[in-house]
Amino acid sequence: MEPSPSRQEANAVIDPSSIRRHVWWSLSVGETLSALRVGDEGLASEEAEARRAIFGLNQLEEEEETSALTVWIRQFKSPLIYILLLAAVVTLAVGEFVDTLVIAAVLILNAVIGFVQERRAERSARALRELVVTRARVMRDSRERQIDARELVPGDMVVVEAGSKVPADCRVVDASALEADESLLTGESTTVGKRDAVLDPDTQIADRDNMLFMGSVITRGRGRAVVVATGPSTQLGEIAGSIKEIGLVETPIQQRMARFARIIGLAVLAASAIGFGIGFALGEDPQHLFLTFVALAVAAIPEGLPIVLTVTLSIGVNRMARRHVIIRRLPAVETLGSCSVIGSDKTGTLTQNRMTVQRIYAEGRDFTVTGSGYGEDGEIIHDGNGVVLEEWPQLRMTLIAGTLSNDATISKVDGGLEAHGDPTEIALLISAYKAGLTKEELEKGFPRGKDVPFDPELRYSASFHASGEGAIAFVKGAPERMVDMCAWSDPAERERVLDVAHRMAEDGLRVLAMASKEYAGPPEALGAPAEELSGLTFLGLQAMIDPPREEAIAAVRGCQEAGIRVVMITGDHAVTGLAIARKLGIAREPDKVLTGADLDRITDDELEEAAQRVPVYARVSPQHKLRVVNALQRTGSVVAVTGDGVNDAPALRAADIGVAMGKSGTDVAKEAADMVITDDNFASIFAAVEEGRIVFDNVRKVTFFLIATGLGTVLAVLASIMFRFELPFLPAQLLWLNLVTNGIQDVALAFEPGEEGVLKRPPRSRREGVISGLLWVRTAIAGTVLACGTLLLFLLEIHADSSIEHARTVALTTAVFFQVFHLQNARSEHRSAFAVSPLTNRFLFVGTAIAVAIHIAAIYLPPTQFILRLEPINAITWVKMIAVASTVILAVEAHKLLTRRSVRADPIR
Ligand code: ADP
Ligand code: MG
Repeated sequence: MEPSPSRQEANAVIDPSSIRRHVWWSLSVGETLSALRVGDEGLASEEAEARRAIFGLNQLEEEEETSALTVWIRQFKSPLIYILLLAAVVTLAVGEFVDTLVIAAVLILNAVIGFVQERRAERSARALRELVVTRARVMRDSRERQIDARELVPGDMVVVEAGSKVPADCRVVDASALEADESLLTGESTTVGKRDAVLDPDTQIADRDNMLFMGSVITRGRGRAVVVATGPSTQLGEIAGSIKEIGLVETPIQQRMARFARIIGLAVLAASAIGFGIGFALGEDPQHLFLTFVALAVAAIPEGLPIVLTVTLSIGVNRMARRHVIIRRLPAVETLGSCSVIGSDKTGTLTQNRMTVQRIYAEGRDFTVTGSGYGEDGEIIHDGNGVVLEEWPQLRMTLIAGTLSNDATISKVDGGLEAHGDPTEIALLISAYKAGLTKEELEKGFPRGKDVPFDPELRYSASFHASGEGAIAFVKGAPERMVDMCAWSDPAERERVLDVAHRMAEDGLRVLAMASKEYAGPPEALGAPAEELSGLTFLGLQAMIDPPREEAIAAVRGCQEAGIRVVMITGDHAVTGLAIARKLGIAREPDKVLTGADLDRITDDELEEAAQRVPVYARVSPQHKLRVVNALQRTGSVVAVTGDGVNDAPALRAADIGVAMGKSGTDVAKEAADMVITDDNFASIFAAVEEGRIVFDNVRKVTFFLIATGLGTVLAVLASIMFRFELPFLPAQLLWLNLVTNGIQDVALAFEPGEEGVLKRPPRSRREGVISGLLWVRTAIAGTVLACGTLLLFLLEIHADSSIEHARTVALTTAVFFQVFHLQNARSEHRSAFAVSPLTNRFLFVGTAIAVAIHIAAIYLPPTQFILRLEPINAITWVKMIAVASTVILAVEAHKLLTRRSVRADPIR
């Protein structure tokens, strides 16, 4: 490699057009670095800043926002609006200008509400996408950092490893078993090996083995690469027009609701048409009838439903974000509500992922290590005394092997140790540190050559080092795997090691075995790593504790109370997994573990049968995980499953809810997932389930509220036509009713906090509709009460010889109050309206107050009095109206009481 340019040279101004002219794959690494004016230690921050000013952000073109005009026009594209427009034309033609005005006001208000909601939904969707930005590991100021991948510039030295998404186009600097999936660019589904090489300038994209391309995915290995092109200048950028971010998709519940609203709409239209026909046959004035039924249709059709649904979903998404859950696909919000099994990783999700080595086995003896967490205090003890390392050569080699085949780092800072990397590897560094061994010192004696990075499929990692004239390999990994890679002079020794590992695992410890092998020649003379790693010398075992997360214990119990099974799916040893599962309450006494090896033996049918009982799957590969998910789904379960690695993607996609880990998860896992938990904590999945249930409950509450009040209005008007009463509502008044109730109150129901019992009942069946049979009955009851009560007061007024205007004012106001009371009914499906404090939902309380205030103002203010033909009402009538309207609470309470009994008698609920 050529000497890296001096700092001053690196800071010289860089010319973008000359950067674009280079044919990077035909240059050596040295030429590449000097062309990019960067050294091996990466760019300085100020330099990166300066380059960003020249090259811009590393992102493909911004997704275009839908123009405000398009969104506005979209608000008028609905059959309901067409009917209203027709009605406006009719009123205009017959000279009823006041009605025309009212209709116009309704049209505009409706569009404004729809417009605002839609804009809000779009904005929150964009904000959510921001949360899942790709992060890149990059060398800046000679230190490795994590930055937002959009901040990369040409010349940045990035680190990639299995599971990361390549953040920009790069030239490989060094690679270890590096492979990438470039199907996005080349359509080629097999992965390509990547290495440092100098290639012919004519090499085609698919064969540029020394280049990494933005958007492709590292499937294996690890390496460093220098950024040569960012954003629109990348290969992906050139074809980006066709690849857009996933937009807003409709969730199944949204589709179902849209269909539901359509059916209700048609039913209302049919009822209106029949009413119109009957009225016409009975000799009513057709023009007046027409307007009345148009208004009735508008008032009764729950056209606000889809909008309220969007609001409810987005409130759910926001609430989840506050609880460390990022929803990547909206349907997950709904699916969460019916989730019945959660398959969770062990390490880091159920446990703290703060590993501490507690026991070591070497030279046939047990050692204990004191100290906890990532603290530096502690020592290695044998028979009650601190050990002198020189006396125990194998123990020393065990610690050295754990330290050198290791990619983590620890450094001493004020007040302790700062650690970076895989917690398993950090633990091994710390146990050696406690005996006075550090990686820096050891690497001086054993300079590092190539390596085999840890891969859950292999279950070991290895590194090769120069050692004097020759070479030495240090290997660490799962004991059962390692004993087969070692040479044993005495087979009994092999059994003894496995036995010790088993005992350690029974205490819930994660056990790793260390081994080494010496070679005569230098590391460069060695063949492929996989072939060289046999006949190893066994050195020792290190066993580490990873305590369960406190919150996870509570969350597991919570899940079980909520009728959700928790299953542990781990790559760790069966005995360790079971021990931890017991501590967490996931497994109980007779419960068994299925291992990856067991899974390979049994058929899909047997697995389906076993999946209903087995709570722990251990030593499983990602393919096994996929099989377990599929088997659980065949039993009818709605499965959420966690994953973090590259190979977890298929299982995450197959699951009903794929959950990726925000911290430890790879980019690939996050992209395949429906949701990401930012704190990697099992308790957050449980929180998401709770929010998912609340969302569904609220959708149901709004729907019930809207259709019951709509039904009441339709019944009142139809009855008065049939029985040849005067009509209780004028068209303009029906539109008013629609606004006062729909517009203000239904949205407020979307803000209902969860009911106490949401986590005490079993998951909702996926087939259950938005409105259950029980709620249909309740809808009929409430609608009938509303219609009868309204008509009763209306007719009493007419009999008392009040003016028709006065009687209609009373009818309208009674209907408004019916809705206010019914809103309280809708707040809980099973609990009494009196048990739900009106203050727990501020929006609802304020919304109701505003709705009532507006209505009262309309009665007493001259302009609205004129437009809506309203008259003031006296105090006694006010009392009568409120009393009659409150009967809807009594009726629904009675129904709740009856159904609560039967609910309790039914053991399944
Ligand atoms: P988990 O499901 O608990 O996260 P993993 O798939 O991460 O398990 O690990 C599986 C096994 O691989 C572990 O039990 C351990 O024996 C071994 N292992 C884990 N991390 C490393 C590592 N960094 N180097 C070597 N071996 C490891
Ligand atoms: Mg793991």
